[in-house]
Amino acid sequence: MPELPEVELAIRRLRPFVEGRVLRAVARLHPSTRRALPPAHVRAAVGQRVLAVARRGKYQLFELARGDRLVAHFRLDGDWNVGPADAPLPRYARLALALDDGRRVSLVDPRAFATVTWHRAGEDPVAGLGPEPFDPGFTPARFRAALARRRAAIKLVLLDQRVLAGVGNIYAAEALWHAGVHPDTPADRIGPSRAARLLDAVRLALSRGLDEPGRVFATAQTTATTHELMVYGRDGEPCRRCGRRIRRVVHGARGTWYCAGCQR
Ligand SMILES: [Zn+2]
Repeated sequence: MPELPEVELAIRRLRPFVEGRVLRAVARLHPSTRRALPPAHVRAAVGQRVLAVARRGKYQLFELARGDRLVAHFRLDGDWNVGPADAPLPRYARLALALDDGRRVSLVDPRAFATVTWHRAGEDPVAGLGPEPFDPGFTPARFRAALARRRAAIKLVLLDQRVLAGVGNIYAAEALWHAGVHPDTPADRIGPSRAARLLDAVRLALSRGLDEPGRVFATAQTTATTHELMVYGRDGEPCRRCGRRIRRVVHGARGTWYCAGCQR
């Protein structure tokens, strides 16, 4: 499931193709995208120039010339495919943007959970979303204050997009491992120094996802995490730090992996 690094990398690949281009047509190719983007919203967007594509959390914001926006969210496994408008549509294309240079950008999404919505100028499409993990204004003290208001397990709190934007199941598990924090720890029991360590660990885990040279940039379908993970999905394997076997527990119906030896 694409999290902040995968969404950011998808935007970086897409930007050179769409920024500055005019949307000639928007084709909704599946009930999921027809529901999210009614015809009136398609008409509002078509004919406008895309000034920029920005990211907030796991959302992708296409800034249109009149101040309105198209907002994409990959959900489980969406991605972009760019090709000539007259080529056959890629398999699982759910929405296609025809650009004024003859290219076509397709939202490819096997499970059809990805959405693209339209938002009028002045509307905040990501209202309520928490701070960006790399925002320098998001200090350890602010992070700690958010944790202090929550009694749930820290693993679940890291997934709460109101606390922190962009972290999902993989990077939450990785960050907790880097910080040496047990995933069941109640968030309000995490003191200032551990909160600072955990925020550093969130940034480290996300940076590894963004910078890993093992990633493949050349093809379209690359939102899957391809870099080496320290703990996620490694149940039964030895911890890369202390050698104890990695365990799997379930939080809110989702698997969490951790090391009982070095995550306390
Ligand atoms: Zn360990």
